[in-house]
Amino acid sequence: MSKVVLGDRLMKALLIFVAVECIWIVPAALYLKFGLFKFFYHDLLGWHMPIEDESYDGVSFTSKCRYCGKEIIQDSQGNWF
Ligand SMILES: [Zn+2]
Repeated sequence: MSKVVLGDRLMKALLIFVAVECIWIVPAALYLKFGLFKFFYHDLLGWHMPIEDESYDGVSFTSKCRYCGKEIIQDSQGNWF
């Protein structure tokens, strides 16, 4: 009985987690692909977007932000800042 309850709670937690992920990821994917919601992601969260040509300085990839022209580098997780 207690196993069933635990499984039920786990399923609910998992569903909530998946729902939150979907809500979060869809606009983020739209931003990364089409530059939508630029104000929120770029201006508020600081997600810079590299221009096409990236260069490698021996340590990290560097590029320029396509929106604000700032010099940005990519960290080991693939994020630009
Ligand atoms: Zn930028």
